[in-house]
Amino acid sequence: MNIILLGPPGAGKGTQASKLVADRGMVQLSTGDMLRAAVKAGTPTGAKAKAIMEAGELVSDEIVSGIIGEALDALPPESGAIFDGYPRTEAQALSLDGLLADRGRTLDHVIELDVDEDALVERITGRFTCAKCGAGYHDHFIQPKAAGVCDVCGSTEFKRRPDDNEETVRTRMAEYRAKTAPILPLYEARGLVERVDGMASMEEVASAISAILAD
Ligand SMILES: [Zn+2]
Repeated sequence: MNIILLGPPGAGKGTQASKLVADRGMVQLSTGDMLRAAVKAGTPTGAKAKAIMEAGELVSDEIVSGIIGEALDALPPESGAIFDGYPRTEAQALSLDGLLADRGRTLDHVIELDVDEDALVERITGRFTCAKCGAGYHDHFIQPKAAGVCDVCGSTEFKRRPDDNEETVRTRMAEYRAKTAPILPLYEARGLVERVDGMASMEEVASAISAILAD
């Protein structure tokens, strides 16, 4: 079972990927992490990537494919892969087909965590945490029981992340759409894309993903 997991920042993709790793022994292949790991480990592709990055240039599709190929070779045959942040372009998507086929694997599902942009803005901009113990709260969903006092530690100081603002959330959504636009039609044409309501609870999203993987 090999899947691509898609979702904008704030949709809970990381949480769901971790759950698939923990529950199903799948391996998350995140290109950014893998590139850094390959450079550090000094694999043939890593050495090539290092030289290019040191020259301040963007790593080519060929190198990204090399990194993915090396990661797939290192994967136990019974472990499924979760592709995260890859492919980004149609060329990469086609190259992924070849990488998988060469190893007797197939791409089984492309799962997109779907979000309502306005609801996502509300979800993200409303969150705040206790400055002392880190307990999480939300303007609309989880207020402290006594206004202005942390339920857990009694602190009266709270903080918000500076990037939890509407402009940042909308910019990230636009970036996400731009990144996935080149590959979604390709996978839709193959009937591989399935959408899960990313605004549902973590448990509901997880069970919807399980249902898709059980198909
Ligand atoms: Zn607290």
